[in-house]
Amino acid sequence: MTAPDSLSVAPAVGAEVAPLSNVRATDPRRDPVPDSDSLYGDYQKVYPRRTEGQFRRIKTAMNMVLLSIFFVGPWLRWDRGVGAPDQAILIDMPGRKAYFFAIEIWPQEVYYLTGLLVIAAVALFFATALLGRVWCGFACFQTVFTDIFVSIERAIEGERSARMRLDRGPMTADKIWRKLLKNLAWLGMAAAVGLGFTLYFGNAPQFLVDILTFQAGMAPYGTLAVVGGFCFLLAGYAREQVCIYMCPYARFQGAMMDDESLIVTYEAWRGEKRGKARKTDDFSRRGHCVDCTLCVQVCPTGVDIRQGTQLACIGCGLCADACDSIMDRFALPRGLIRFDSVRNQARRANGETVFIRWIRPRTVIYITALTVALVIMATTLATRSRLEVNVLPERSPLYVTLSDGSIRNGYTFKILNMERVDTRFTVTIRGLEGAHMAVVGYDGPANDPAAVSLPVPGDSVGTFRIYVSVDLRALAGASTPFTFHVANEASGETLDHRVNFNAPSR
Ligand code: SF4
Ligand code: SF4
Repeated sequence: MTAPDSLSVAPAVGAEVAPLSNVRATDPRRDPVPDSDSLYGDYQKVYPRRTEGQFRRIKTAMNMVLLSIFFVGPWLRWDRGVGAPDQAILIDMPGRKAYFFAIEIWPQEVYYLTGLLVIAAVALFFATALLGRVWCGFACFQTVFTDIFVSIERAIEGERSARMRLDRGPMTADKIWRKLLKNLAWLGMAAAVGLGFTLYFGNAPQFLVDILTFQAGMAPYGTLAVVGGFCFLLAGYAREQVCIYMCPYARFQGAMMDDESLIVTYEAWRGEKRGKARKTDDFSRRGHCVDCTLCVQVCPTGVDIRQGTQLACIGCGLCADACDSIMDRFALPRGLIRFDSVRNQARRANGETVFIRWIRPRTVIYITALTVALVIMATTLATRSRLEVNVLPERSPLYVTLSDGSIRNGYTFKILNMERVDTRFTVTIRGLEGAHMAVVGYDGPANDPAAVSLPVPGDSVGTFRIYVSVDLRALAGASTPFTFHVANEASGETLDHRVNFNAPSR
């Protein structure tokens, strides 16, 4: 058996191989597969067949773990003290805050979300460089929900051949009730997904009762309908079309992989020349692929992996499970289809020792970037200020001349107290000689006309109107910069905010 020169691209073995992928199938036992290379083509439904094996077990376990996290998430509690929501993961739209266990994010801190997305992206790049499309195959919500929706379809309409017969057959009573039941079951699942998602936006126990008794507002029902509707359409009907045509990640993830990344590969060097076989055949004189097409039949995206690495392959490994079962039946070595690197396949073909190179330039770069992003995120979260000040100078008028000749400027002053306790903040003026400060409704310390103590309730924003007046003779020009110095009287945390004092030109 001779090895081909290159194993990295399709087609793997040239003209001797009967093409299945990207060509309309003529063999009725074979799936028509989507043509991912052409811009236009008739949609041809994929009927994935059930298979057993290690990757199927991993997929099932991942489905259960991820769905458990998704549905249990809103019910986890976290004690944040009196008056604060005790839902561990909560996006509080009316309160304009997001909670994740001990972390509380205010709207001003939305950049943490950017940091989270950056970390998720780099982690994904890292995983892809090591394990190919492991995210797509086992963890992407589209993959998870599609897998569940196909299971529901299989339970109601039967295994692959029964489903194909049903779709091609006439509209009978049996066909109508099966289609009806399937869509109802899908709708139920989609509604559960929409509901599970919506519960992250309110106190789950109460929110659930409100939604089920039609006492919630339009927003929860709208969210439920949109999320549930998309789940129904994408997982029920669009399925692999999302991965092939809609998902941008599928298009550029090839840039993260190299010849050492673990991907689903076909050992063309020992599989070819393929052909029908009996158990009694002498496999030392022919390829190990018995051309049963089981690997194609179980594929959720309709790919024939024997044609080489393809964009539509989501790396789920189900074809490897299917092929292993065939290899067992013919007492041939497993792994004709396996997770392996392109480089290893070449080594296997040449009888060399195979090994996985985990440490490579790109994996080092990705893990370094991931570590840096995690450290920055953790540091900024741990040291972030719990005090924020916004100052808006009055523009109309810019200044007022008082009867004693001094100039007065007005400011709308907002103090964000991100602590849960009521706190007083001392505001003082720095860099404006002889300034007097007055706050509507509050008195400053008698010994300091340029300072005032302001109360702000815990976990809220205090809004004040501050007037600053200065003798015109003390001002150097029409615009004099100065600083509002704000100090938390309990914690000692301070913050400076620079603004301008406006006066007439002289
Ligand atoms: S070719 Fe194999 S690994 Fe790729 S999507 Fe199909 S079954 Fe999954
Ligand atoms: S399952 Fe294995 S033996 Fe059957 S067609 Fe696919 S590669 Fe060949």
